[in-house]
Amino acid sequence: MNALLGTFHPYIIIIAIGLTTMASYTALDMFTLIRTSGQNKRLLFLGGTFSMGIGIWIMNFMGLISADTNRFASYHIPLTVLSIFIGVAFTGMAFLPFYGKVIRFYHYLIGGLFLTFAVIAIQVIGLYAMNLNVKYNIPLFTLLGLLIFGLFLFSLWILFSPKSYKQGHQIWLKPISAIIISAAIAEGHFLLKRATVTTSDLVRGSSTETPFFIYLVLFVTVLIICGLIVSSTLISKQLATTDTNLKDIKAALDSSTIVAITDPYGTIVFVNDKFEEISKYKQEEIIGKNHRILNSGYHSKEFFKDLWQTIQSGKIWRGEIRNKAKDGTYYWVDTTIVPFLDKNGKPIQYIAIRSDISDRKRAEEHLKETLKENIDIKFALDQSSIVAFTDERGIITSVNDKFCEISKYSREEILGRDHNILNSGHHSKVYFKDLWKTIGTGHVWKGEIRNRAKDGTYYWVDTTIVPFLDEQGKPYQYLAIRNDITERKQTEEVLHRQDKLAAVGQLAAGVAHEIRNPLTSMKGYAEFLQLDEKDPDRMEFLNIILDEIERVNTIVEDFMVLAKPKVVELEEKNVVPVIKNVVSLLEFEARKKNVSLSFDCNEEIIQIECDENRLKQVFLNFIKNGIEAMPNGGDLHVKTIIQDNNVQISIQDSGVGIPKEKLQKLGEPFYTTKKNGNGLGLMVSFKIIESHNGKVFVESEPNKGTTFNIFLPTKIA
Ligand code: ADP
Ligand code: MG
Repeated sequence: MNALLGTFHPYIIIIAIGLTTMASYTALDMFTLIRTSGQNKRLLFLGGTFSMGIGIWIMNFMGLISADTNRFASYHIPLTVLSIFIGVAFTGMAFLPFYGKVIRFYHYLIGGLFLTFAVIAIQVIGLYAMNLNVKYNIPLFTLLGLLIFGLFLFSLWILFSPKSYKQGHQIWLKPISAIIISAAIAEGHFLLKRATVTTSDLVRGSSTETPFFIYLVLFVTVLIICGLIVSSTLISKQLATTDTNLKDIKAALDSSTIVAITDPYGTIVFVNDKFEEISKYKQEEIIGKNHRILNSGYHSKEFFKDLWQTIQSGKIWRGEIRNKAKDGTYYWVDTTIVPFLDKNGKPIQYIAIRSDISDRKRAEEHLKETLKENIDIKFALDQSSIVAFTDERGIITSVNDKFCEISKYSREEILGRDHNILNSGHHSKVYFKDLWKTIGTGHVWKGEIRNRAKDGTYYWVDTTIVPFLDEQGKPYQYLAIRNDITERKQTEEVLHRQDKLAAVGQLAAGVAHEIRNPLTSMKGYAEFLQLDEKDPDRMEFLNIILDEIERVNTIVEDFMVLAKPKVVELEEKNVVPVIKNVVSLLEFEARKKNVSLSFDCNEEIIQIECDENRLKQVFLNFIKNGIEAMPNGGDLHVKTIIQDNNVQISIQDSGVGIPKEKLQKLGEPFYTTKKNGNGLGLMVSFKIIESHNGKVFVESEPNKGTTFNIFLPTKIA
């Protein structure tokens, strides 16, 4: 042993360590290139493996040579080649685990183990190749083996651990690892040599000194290593340029989007900072997990099935996905998954590029809600009101069904027209001018308008016109919401008429009293004169006077009805006999005028609260009017119908009827179309019905007939 140590040439050892360091640096350079760039992977791997294998071998070879240059003569060339080959093979196996993307702890173990094997194998075979008979100190050998293993493990770890890999490939990592590895190799050589004991010192063959061969081997090795260094530098230079582009793209991608890489089974192998940020998972927590961990349960199974089918067939998938973050909150991502394919077109990994669209989704959701609300409001409006939109000039652009219904125009007829088409001429020009002034300046207008429908009938609408303003505050369209108030207007008209009646009544009351007194004396004296009168002519005149007095008297009496205070004495009475009585009273007159008078009554008893004599007057008026409306004869039909708590008494004739425009005049004092009429009958009758808490409705069609419907509240027995 002393001989061995004593005789080695230090300069050879220094050269050997230098070469080994260079070789392992080159090898590590290539292996790290594989990881960072991903191009020319196979070439880099072979180069790296070869370089490392040569590195280990040259250390061993030169170490042995340095011990005894003479030994070279007995060198066994095939064994040497074998040792190189085995060294390279073990190195290859050592670095194979680092070929993939994910690095686990056992990868370091395997790497370290195979590198140790490589060193030991080259050492052992090298000793044999030198024709040395050796004995091994097993415990020491094992201990040293473990030490070497530890060193390799450490250097691999600092080189490949994800942290250092990620933190930007610090430049010092490679040289340090290379030095540690070389140290491990050198240590392997020298210490292992110590663990071996050469038993036969020499089996000297031709012990000629042949340093030339040593130098040749040295030269070749240097040549190989230099070649490898040059090629690795060239490759890394070339890669660096493509890599910078790639790195720029990656940096841009990383800063702007959420990036994740998964293997073909969906296991996450890489995520960027943005991914961590949005998913709230730390890198350590998520790497190695299946992507399903983010499933929010929102999408159907078919959705993901389709996704997988697409990417598995090598196609790009795009879509919007709702994911669940670690804290249980949801986020929406617009996702593009790009499959990376191998030579056979099978995906080897998937890159998912996502952007956060949660805000947009929320806005969409909000929009959907408001839209739905709008639709609901529109529906409610359509159901309840007459709706029309016009443009800024008043041209109708859209109307709802109710609009068509009331105006009797179809949509086709009304769209594109202006609201003038509905003008009934009821309102003044100033009224509409004011309307336009209000809405034209962006204010809401409210009012009541009488419109004319297509068929010429009128309807009243309570109208609200809302201008829709553009950004400059100018109206670009108007929404008119109307409600039918025709009925209310009619009631108002009736009320108005009744007010008139009351006024007439007040006046009449005063006048009637004053007239009745002189009339009574006139009547008395005229009758008195009649008693002694013998002259038939004079007698005739007196009769006329008395008749006329009677006529004036009835008119005055009618007036008195109006004038009388509202409180009438109502008694509960059966109305059927009252009607029957009037009908039979008028039967004779009807027959004279060729009118058939009939009375229909389902009930025999209909109790109502009434003043019998006044009601009689009402029926008399209506039936008489009916008979008078049929100068050429006809049918007059009286019938009663019980409806809820009312009795409807209708008096229907087949007479001349009443034109529409005249219907409103009915009931006005002194409105008559008859020569001998006084135009008070209907007025008085309406008044009486009103005092009975009843109502009268008229239906009439010229030349067909008229029906007066009287509604009176019944008494429930
Ligand atoms: P008068 O009978 O004295 O004319 P009324 O008040 O009874 O006064 O009637 C007023 C007017 O109403 C009548 O002149 C007639 O024009 C019209 N009228 C009333 N009843 C009818 C009817 N059944 N058919 C047609 N017109 C009627
Ligand atoms: Mg009359």
